[in-house]
Parts: sequence; structure tokens; C-alpha cells
Amino acid sequence: MRTEILSLSGSGEAGVGLGVGAGGDVIKKIDLAAEMALFDVLQERNVSCTVISEETGRREIGSQPTNLYLTVDPLDGTTNAIRGLPFMAVSIAASRAPYLKDVETALVSDLFHEVTYTAERGKGAHRNGERIKPSSTPSLEEAVIGIDLKKFKIDKLVDLLMPMLRKTKHLRHLGANALEVCYVADGTTDAFIDIRGKLRVTDMAAAYLILREAGGIIVAPGGNELNVPLEASQRVSFVAVANTQLYETIKKDLGFSKP
Ligand SMILES: [Mg+2]
Repeated sequence: MRTEILSLSGSGEAGVGLGVGAGGDVIKKIDLAAEMALFDVLQERNVSCTVISEETGRREIGSQPTNLYLTVDPLDGTTNAIRGLPFMAVSIAASRAPYLKDVETALVSDLFHEVTYTAERGKGAHRNGERIKPSSTPSLEEAVIGIDLKKFKIDKLVDLLMPMLRKTKHLRHLGANALEVCYVADGTTDAFIDIRGKLRVTDMAAAYLILREAGGIIVAPGGNELNVPLEASQRVSFVAVANTQLYETIKKDLGFSKP
């Protein structure tokens, strides 16, 4: 998959639109190349499963498709890939039932830097095979925080985020949310927030397990547990934070404790 994606990345061809995918967005040539590469691998290895992805929606392969569900984002960071910005990933989450809480095994692979994050439920999270854990950064003044602000009623969102933004010195949004949640998991950053209600569950299912297994916090706005069906059309909002102390601050600033 890496070869197919990187050979197109940054080329004029990569961004050619090829119709609307199951998730409702225009599929770009580079997205389709990534997804086809994934299906080729599954076929070669004779894997029977149900694939849930942004582009195809839901596709059953082989004779026992309901024994294994693969929730995939074949390419996270499409715009980066089209422009040749070196921040993009493949994201794959495996489960025996089509719900986020049932994800048992996860992989997010940074294609450009050859860094792969993995997690198995109950067995921790790893970066290129080495055990990872989130940071212990306690305050917003020291933290590096990612926020996805794109395609939202920006006024409303900024109002909500303002108490937190006032205190936050280091803001980043790198353009591939799965990878940015993994950055919280290994302590590269301290939090990542996407409360637009726009992100697809296919984009974050793998990173969700990786952060939880690393020991970080990932919850719905309001602080509730995230549990949604694994479907191509399912959207999620979430707050991903490295540790309890920082989470308590963010929770207060975002007004989670208000009724
Ligand atoms: Mg994608």
C-alpha cells in the first residue's frame, strides 16, 4: 500500500476526483489506489471479513464475513498526500463485532516516516515494536495541543474552545487525525480535539484503541464513553488527552461539567 500511495503523492494525478464515496465525500484517485491496494492484500491472503471503509462503505469478502470486521481508512490525510505534505497514514482496526468498543487489534502506519503504531486489547500499545505511553504534561501552558477546526461553523466552535485557547501556547493541526491521536499516545503531543461531529469513525477506530492501550484518555464531549457502531456513515466527536490532570483542565475549560 505504501508504494501505491507514495508513488502518487504530490503528483497532479493524485487529487483527481472519481465520484462520491459511501461516506459522502469525493473520492480522490489516491484514496482509491490505497483502498484497492488493501483489497489486493486481503485477497492474496485469503482473508474472509467485512471491510468497513469511507470509500466502499461495507463490503463482505469470503465465506465467513461476520467473524471479522476490519474498519479501515486506507488513507488518512488525503489533502496532505495530494499536496505532498509528508504526514499521512493507513488506519486498520479489527473487531469481532461492528462497534467501536469491540476493537481488539489496531494499526496506524505513518507511510512517509515508516513508523507503525499497533495495539492489542489488554496488551498495551507500541510504536515500531516499542511500548509507548502518553506524556505527563500537566498544564495547557506547557502542552502541545491539536485541534481540528476545518469545515465547521467556526464561530460556534471557537466560542466553545476560547477558554482553552487563551491558555494554550502551542497549537498544531497536522492534517491526519488518526496519526495525531497516535502522537498523543506516544507523548509527541499532549491532546487532540475534534468536536466538529464531522470525523468518520473509520478514521479513528484504530487510533482509539492505540491511545487507550497506551494509557491515555479518549472520550466523547461531555466526558462519556465513546461507543458507536462501526459504519462508514457514522460520525464522532472526541477529546483525546494524555493524562488525567490535563484532562481535568480541558474538561473544565470546555464546560463538560455544565449540565
Ligand atoms: Mg481517508
